[in-house]
Amino acid sequence: MYRMDPIQYRLPQSRIPQAWYNIQPDLPKPLAPVLHPGTLKPIGPDDLTPLFPMSLILQEVSTEREIEIPEEVRQVYAQWRPSPLFRARRLEKVLDTPARIYYKYEGVSPAGSHKPNTAVAQAYYNKKEGAKRLITETGAGQWGSALAMACAFFGLECKVYMVRVSYDQKPYRRALMEVFGASVTASPSDETESGRAILAQNPQSNGSLGIAISEAVEAAAKDPHTKYALGSFLNHVLLHQTVIGLEAMEQMALAGDEPDVIIGCTGGGSNFAGLAMPYLGRKIRGQCQAHVVAVEPAACPSLTKGKFTYDFADTGHLTPLVKMHTLGSSFIPPGIHAGGLRYHGMAPLVSHVMDLGLIEASAVQQLDAFAAGIQFARAEGIIPAPEANHAVAGAISEALRAKQEGKQRTILFNLSGHGHFDMQSYIDYQAGKLQNYDYPAEEIAMALAGLPTVA
Ligand SMILES: *Cc1c(COP(=O)(O)O)cnc(C)c1O
Repeated sequence: MYRMDPIQYRLPQSRIPQAWYNIQPDLPKPLAPVLHPGTLKPIGPDDLTPLFPMSLILQEVSTEREIEIPEEVRQVYAQWRPSPLFRARRLEKVLDTPARIYYKYEGVSPAGSHKPNTAVAQAYYNKKEGAKRLITETGAGQWGSALAMACAFFGLECKVYMVRVSYDQKPYRRALMEVFGASVTASPSDETESGRAILAQNPQSNGSLGIAISEAVEAAAKDPHTKYALGSFLNHVLLHQTVIGLEAMEQMALAGDEPDVIIGCTGGGSNFAGLAMPYLGRKIRGQCQAHVVAVEPAACPSLTKGKFTYDFADTGHLTPLVKMHTLGSSFIPPGIHAGGLRYHGMAPLVSHVMDLGLIEASAVQQLDAFAAGIQFARAEGIIPAPEANHAVAGAISEALRAKQEGKQRTILFNLSGHGHFDMQSYIDYQAGKLQNYDYPAEEIAMALAGLPTVA
């Protein structure tokens, strides 16, 4: 009889995790404190109340291993969670590799990426604590559309500063945010002091996540009914994303397999952390030996080429100082199409586990990322977001290495989103219009020379 090889591992709605996993209490060494840029003293919860609701501030510093997911949030998650885990059998065949390749697919959310996992939670807590409006920034538009959707669900207004290069490259992302009811402004804009300062230096500025963060923080701090929301980077954001890894563990168990290599792309670090942190918890407890690899763009290589030190999270220097891998807060990354990866820093938690030697990092050029994404699409039928192409490239090179070494290896990677709103970048790639960017050594050296001094 014909036996079908399993390709997807689905969990029922009842298996949506009931708690997020917080790695902080399991860390062999605690995170470095967040510092006030003026006093250089650790900040307290009160310093953050103009920007965030207290429940999220408390999650930021929580030492509870498990943080319960509110019923209202799980109810929204149920629209697309648990997300599927696939075995990439056709890709394995094309690569002719002995490796088994699995991917967790976060593109099934209505906004098309992992971002709603935290957007929904953030909108919920903000609403509960009385906010009327959320302001945020968006790189490629994935985060903006996720937050716009979550705000629509919970009856909040939403305003988004969208990085100029994406605003121009991705009109459909902007339209999606507007359909969900958000208002969208290209950044740098003349609405804020931070934006005007950049425009005065360079009226043609492409913008960057660092600049857009300054604009959003500045605008949110001015209005008592408005809070700020960040789509990556912060501990509470990474926490909310751990539903990815918690589900993946159950699904890998269904597959009867254990990953030897775990891969995610990193912009601010949230989707990578979402998949990796629950496994790293096991690794710290000696229950998992997997290599955990963060893949970043060669044009914006914070983990592989950055410095692990205190820096501002934004270009306008409105945020506290955080210890992280940074290319310098004044570094404006080249206009690669993976807009969600164009950020000068890295989540403090991801930087910390890198520093502890719990994870590794590698950098991929833009053209190699797209080549990998197209190979994946032709085998698996899913067109990855340009950001996710970096994870695909990482997984393919692991699979080819396994082939070269003639070794079995189980690879698990996060396919953080689909690329249906990024087709212009695929058109440009296929037309030979995309280029690689050399490692921008000079710009980075200049930006690093401007790092704040923290004794
Ligand atoms: C935003 C985004 C990323 C990068 O952000 P992280 O916080 O590093 O996950 C990666 N993939 C997709 C699809 C995104 O939308």
